[in-house]
Amino acid sequence: MKNIIRLAIGSSLLVGSTLMIAPQQADGFTTIGGSLGLAQRDLRLFNNFNGSSANNNTTIHANWPQYDGAELAMWKAGAEWNSRAHGDGSGDSSQGSVGSGTANFSYAWNGNASNVGGGNDNIISSIGGSSGGVLAYTETPISDGWRIRFYGDAWNWQDGPGTVSSGIDIQGVACHELGHALGLGHTTVSGSTMLAYISGTGQPQRSIQSDDISGVRYIYGAMSAAMPSVASITGNANLGGNITITGTNFSATGNTLWLQSNVLDSGAAGGNFVKVTGLSSSNGGTVINMTLPSAGWEGGEIHVQSNGTNNSNLSESHPFGGTGGGVLNDTITMTINDSTPNPGQLVTLSWNGAPANQSYTIVYAFTNNSPLFTSWSGIVGTGATSSSGIGTYSKIIPSRGAGRTVYVEMQVPVGADIFNSNTVTVNIN
Ligand SMILES: [Zn+2]
Repeated sequence: MKNIIRLAIGSSLLVGSTLMIAPQQADGFTTIGGSLGLAQRDLRLFNNFNGSSANNNTTIHANWPQYDGAELAMWKAGAEWNSRAHGDGSGDSSQGSVGSGTANFSYAWNGNASNVGGGNDNIISSIGGSSGGVLAYTETPISDGWRIRFYGDAWNWQDGPGTVSSGIDIQGVACHELGHALGLGHTTVSGSTMLAYISGTGQPQRSIQSDDISGVRYIYGAMSAAMPSVASITGNANLGGNITITGTNFSATGNTLWLQSNVLDSGAAGGNFVKVTGLSSSNGGTVINMTLPSAGWEGGEIHVQSNGTNNSNLSESHPFGGTGGGVLNDTITMTINDSTPNPGQLVTLSWNGAPANQSYTIVYAFTNNSPLFTSWSGIVGTGATSSSGIGTYSKIIPSRGAGRTVYVEMQVPVGADIFNSNTVTVNIN
């Protein structure tokens, strides 16, 4: 028997009555029983929304790599419940930081599913038809998983990502439904994400409020001081590449890296994260050096699980990966002091984040071969990186370059890996 909890659109009368009782409620949240263990943290979308405005955001944000449209909205909606900020927390202009739960809980975004899945496959999707004022609903009980359906054809769904001024905000409604999926019922506290109905577009519900936070902390416990956290990832995140994860509270041995599965299905396999087990840390539990699997995963987000199976052993989510199948390039940041130089002018390229004390090559091409230039038209220069990974290279623009656009990239081979920079575009006068 499924316990179905719905979010209905509100009328002005209902909103008015709620405002009258709200001040009497210290803790208004309710729970529906159960919680999501570490095996049920996955979150996917079967993107069968028909309305064009549900998928018209095509802007990728660096803090949320590789996804746009409704996927990006669902990802952010889940991450708002997470223990700590996702990456630097940026990417949603309507709230200060995404990742506000401060509980021993984080969702694990795992990309797309191929169909709506069963009642416990942890997949969000659209469903046809309508049910009065109902926007969406969550199928529970939750402990073995959940399913969320949006009435896709009944409402004018909006994927944002910024201010939504008409229609209904996918991200706000998804944040509410994912509150049910993690175990919360409705609250009586006005302004909370878990209020039973919305007024307006629902955009404010993207940001969970104090009563919602009290609820997730009640179910999963306030975030442990020992919960692992990921600060940064450097290195070659290609399939089979070597990376360095920097953070805090990693166990000395027995850490596990969670990577998004590249399996596209609507069953269990595609929802399960690819896990690299048995990872040791150094520097007092702050550094993990590891080799990525050579297949089976894709970019998006990662988590680190310290040595244990409690809710407090799983880190918050951290963005990971550039374009394509998990490729993380552009680990070196490079700029030019003048991107529209004249022929004969001396220009200077500056970089940071390069591997220390290694030989580098700066290449150019007449097409932008990002994310990694595997062929090029010529070499700008060569040298050795410093111990700090910071450096510059100056070059006179040759006269034969007049009127051309060239694309410049720095490459630093280390063993079998190539660390490379972002592409610098130079429009020569
Ligand atoms: Zn609800």
